[in-house]
Amino acid sequence: MTLRQYYLELLEKLIAIPSISAQAANLPEAAQLIVNSFSELGADITYDDQFFAPFILAKFDSSLPNAKTLVIYNHYDVQPAEPLSLWHSDPWQLLNKDGKLYGRGVNDDKGNLTARLTAIAEYLDENNQQLPVNIIFVIEGAEESASQYLENYLTQHVIDQESSLIIWESGGKNAQESLEIFGGNKGIVTFELSVTTAANDLHSSLAAVVDSAPIRLSRAIASLFDQKGNIAVPLFDEDVLLPNEREKSLVASLPITQDALIKQHDLKVSLYSDRNNTDFKESLYFKPTINVEGIISGYNGSGVKTVLPAQASAKLEARLVPNMSPDKTLQLITEHLTKQGFSDIVVKKTLGLSGYRSDMSDPEIVRVIGTVTDYYHKEPSVLPTSPGTGPMAIVQNIFQAPVASFGVGYSQTNDHAPNENIRLIDYYQHIDVIKALIDSYKTKIEK
Ligand SMILES: [Zn+2]
Repeated sequence: MTLRQYYLELLEKLIAIPSISAQAANLPEAAQLIVNSFSELGADITYDDQFFAPFILAKFDSSLPNAKTLVIYNHYDVQPAEPLSLWHSDPWQLLNKDGKLYGRGVNDDKGNLTARLTAIAEYLDENNQQLPVNIIFVIEGAEESASQYLENYLTQHVIDQESSLIIWESGGKNAQESLEIFGGNKGIVTFELSVTTAANDLHSSLAAVVDSAPIRLSRAIASLFDQKGNIAVPLFDEDVLLPNEREKSLVASLPITQDALIKQHDLKVSLYSDRNNTDFKESLYFKPTINVEGIISGYNGSGVKTVLPAQASAKLEARLVPNMSPDKTLQLITEHLTKQGFSDIVVKKTLGLSGYRSDMSDPEIVRVIGTVTDYYHKEPSVLPTSPGTGPMAIVQNIFQAPVASFGVGYSQTNDHAPNENIRLIDYYQHIDVIKALIDSYKTKIEK
């Protein structure tokens, strides 16, 4: 059996464990399997199960003096598989069919983890068990639940660890079949707004003299924006890290267009960038946002109920760009609501993560771009940030190195959705690219 087959079997075993962090299900089982596989390859393991999802640090040391250190971040938890009826196969059984692998977590993020482990196993096997670079895997099991304890854990366990580069969990090829390399992501603060306007729901005839809770709440939400959809909270974007010229030009060269977005989602509302005459791509990648995720209030059953609801609540989020603090942002929003006369609106924070962007001209990022270009004989699509969110800033802050995110996925990978899948060819290519990247440390580059 080849090493590739051997670790493909590991992937199969991992997929068979429904390690769902949102339900705190089967997390130690998945973690233990990973620990065994890394130990088998000779990694130095720190296993910590004081949190509900065990953390794993797995180190492979280079025998070279002054070797650099590569950090690889992955997670073993997955999203729930529901709705099961939309899957064409059992989500917890790896299906290898027509050049594709199907299963929950095959891309996000178990397939990336096993591909990278395979790369190290093959590299060691082909190079006399020697690595030209130290490699540290940081593996957690609560990424899909906002990485609640990651910062706490890393601060306790990783002290003064100098490193050169962080390879992020995932990524893949875009619809044009170019490999994408992301250097950052947005941060987020999620929160709930709620209001109670009376001890109980009232007869709606009282609307002549009393505001309902949904009216009160929607006015408060509306006060966060001006007529054109600009965020009206004073100082909201005061700390925003503005994109530099290289970042602007990287984003400008992306093949996405406004028209394609309108068509893809059959959009029936005007775009922010049209109303405000701003650049569509720059808004998408570099602008912070406030969004309403959901509103609940009153009677929504069939027929009519003439009621004046006394309670209303909404879930909101603000997507943050680097340098914006989740807590400070929420404080600005709270102060704004109070100043607008909405001190009765209760604000409750649910989650917060800072954003981060790498300097895409850093020599270590240039190393990744060069390795990928050499391997594919094609320039990758390089992006300073993804519009999405993750705990990148936490890991970056601890290891103090630039981040490159790329992986085994492609444009129809269906992360978090039914029929999550990857293509075997992309999986094997990722193994090769990680091996080439490791090998590039044989010839040192100056920093
Ligand atoms: Zn993930």
